[in-house]
Amino acid sequence: MKAELEQLIALQKNDTSIRRLQAELDAIPERRAEIEKEFDQRAFEIKAIETQRDAARDARLQLESGMAEQRARAEKAERDLMSSTNAKAYEAAIREADAARKHISELETKMLEQMESFEQAEKTLGEREPEVARLRAEYDEKLVAFGEQTERQTEELAARRAERERLTAHLPPAMKSLYNRISTRIRDGVAVAEARKSSCSACFMSLRPEVMTKIRRGEEIITCDNCSRILYYIPAEQAQMTTP
Ligand SMILES: [Zn+2]
Repeated sequence: MKAELEQLIALQKNDTSIRRLQAELDAIPERRAEIEKEFDQRAFEIKAIETQRDAARDARLQLESGMAEQRARAEKAERDLMSSTNAKAYEAAIREADAARKHISELETKMLEQMESFEQAEKTLGEREPEVARLRAEYDEKLVAFGEQTERQTEELAARRAERERLTAHLPPAMKSLYNRISTRIRDGVAVAEARKSSCSACFMSLRPEVMTKIRRGEEIITCDNCSRILYYIPAEQAQMTTP
């Protein structure tokens, strides 16, 4: 029986690792999103400048098409002026040409402003290029490291599952089903608990001396009356080495 109890303890250690690894692998999307979020926060300022630069470029293009319209309007006014046959048409054409020229001048000023804004943003982006490159390199490194870590965890999980097969293959069926029944029912999945200082180390229920004696002997399966975990005893000198 002692050897089987030791196998149960080994199985418990292994199952605890499986749970931990599975939880970490299940959280891959969240863990990746965390890395991306950190990058986005640090790249926020740079993004804002890029947005500003793009907005300035778009605004300038918009102004250019307005400018083409006003030039066409001015040319038409010039033609009307040339072909005017009376004072009224002549004055109307003059007014129209003046209005178009005024509008062109306003558009030119606005275009200059947008060009300056674009150039300023480009200049800032250029200056901060090394910082951006470093940030991007750090981000890429983190993603690579994260990929490697999850790969290792996936491999370890497979190894732990194989180990579980190996450990349960040698357990008596009744013991195996008892273990599985307890571990699936208990929230943390820990089906075995050390009996320490005359109490269950999982739920702290105190254990009667005769129960403690049976657990020390390790000749039969003793479960905790309170939490139902399988109890085992480790002599004080080994205690630090074998706690699951
Ligand atoms: Zn207990």
